Amino acid sequence: MNSQTLDHLRATIRDVPNFPKPGILFKDITPVLGDHALLSRAIDGMIDATGVLKVDKVVGIDARGFIFGSLIASRLGAGFVPIRKKGKLPWKTRGVDYSLEYGSSSVEMHQDAIAPGETVLLADDLLATGGTAAAALHLIAQSGGKLVGSTFFIELSFLNGREKLRGHGPVHALISY
Ligand code: AMP
Repeated sequence: MNSQTLDHLRATIRDVPNFPKPGILFKDITPVLGDHALLSRAIDGMIDATGVLKVDKVVGIDARGFIFGSLIASRLGAGFVPIRKKGKLPWKTRGVDYSLEYGSSSVEMHQDAIAPGETVLLADDLLATGGTAAAALHLIAQSGGKLVGSTFFIELSFLNGREKLRGHGPVHALISY
C-alpha cells in the first residue's frame, strides 16, 4: 500500500477520547467503512501484507471483526466464522473468558464451525492487549483448526498484543500507533 493511502486512512480514523470509559482513546473506524474506495484498499492491504493467499476459514471477532473478516473471506474465497459474545450463537458452542483493555468478556464459537485440520486466518479491526485475539486462538485450537496468520486494521503496538499470537503465523496490522 502506498504512503498516500496510508496517510488517507490515518486521517480518516476518528479518535474519540474517553469512550467507552474514561482514559480510553477509541479508534472509530466507521468513517473508513463509509468510504467505498478507502475500505476496499484497506481490505486489500490487510490481505496482501499477511502473505496468506489460501485458507479454509477466516475467523472474525464480534462485532467489527465481522466486517473486516467477511470482506477478507470473500476476497480469499474462504468461509467466514464468527466468534460472538456469549449467548448469541444458536447452535452448540465452545467458549472462553478473557480480559480486555477496558473490561472483561466471554466469547463463543460454534463447535462445528472449523473442522480439524482446517487452516484459519484471524481478522479484527484492532489489536490492543491481544486478549481478544488470544481468546480466538484458544477457540480455533480447541476445534482442531490451524491458525496460519492474523491481520488487523489497527494495532496499538505499545500494548504488545502481538506477543499473544507468537508462533501462529505472521501478524500484520495496516496501521500502528
Ligand atoms: P484487546 O483484546 O485488548 O486486544 O482488544 C481488542 C478488541 O477491543 C478489538 O476487538 C477492538 O474492537 C476493541 N478495542 C480495544 N481497544 C480499542 C480502542 N482503543 N479503540 C477501538 N476499539 C478498541
